[in-house]
Amino acid sequence: MGAEDRRGLARDLAATLRTRNVYLGSERVASQLRFALTGPGEAPAAGASASREELWQSLKDEALQCRKCRLCETRRTVVFGEGSPTADLMFIGEAPGRDEDEQGRPFVGRAGKLLTQMIEAMGLRRSDVFIANVLKCRPPDNRDPAPDEVESCRPYLERQIELIDPKVVCALGRHAVRSLVDVSQGITKIRGRKLVLPGGRTLLPTYHPAYLLRNPAAKREVWEDLKTILGILGLPVPERRSR
Ligand code: SF4
Repeated sequence: MGAEDRRGLARDLAATLRTRNVYLGSERVASQLRFALTGPGEAPAAGASASREELWQSLKDEALQCRKCRLCETRRTVVFGEGSPTADLMFIGEAPGRDEDEQGRPFVGRAGKLLTQMIEAMGLRRSDVFIANVLKCRPPDNRDPAPDEVESCRPYLERQIELIDPKVVCALGRHAVRSLVDVSQGITKIRGRKLVLPGGRTLLPTYHPAYLLRNPAAKREVWEDLKTILGILGLPVPERRSR
């Protein structure tokens, strides 16, 4: 298969992933891409990263036009997420709020400022991680996500996780945790526990920053969870403690 054929196959694969609303394990995606770009058993060809970018852009384009659930009727913007598309660490929240809906960016309100402080306390920047929500559109009046809305939107998050391929996913609050793994316990019981996602990635639940704004004493526990994440990533714990 020639290089042009492979590029065509990669484009077809991108289209397939865009139109099929199914979960594919990251290894399967990787093997399909590897074949599309290099042919079986060959070394990766130049351009592999471009095709990953193509897959990412396709996913983003699809999300930005999505009308799969009722939230498309009331949203101002689709909040796809932001940060590094090759990050080792992802933060997943519940859904955009009013500020996020207006700006089209995740975690930009008061809770978002606190999340930024948490990230910086880890010695990282927002641009070093990827920040997203389970729902890409704001529920009216910031109500809880409805189960059918989560079902409709979850494939976007799953595909973001597959393409980013992080070492750790930090779920902020119970809605984020329950959208990714089947757990019955509340967030107070499972925060700080290392759970496993498909593909073997670590899922570490902790409190949502909005909860911390109401319960500042819980920041101590969240800092312990952030230190656990730094340990998994093999990064040093900064001396200065988070407030
Ligand atoms: S919340 Fe998700 S599934 Fe619903 S319209 Fe927005 S992007 Fe589509």
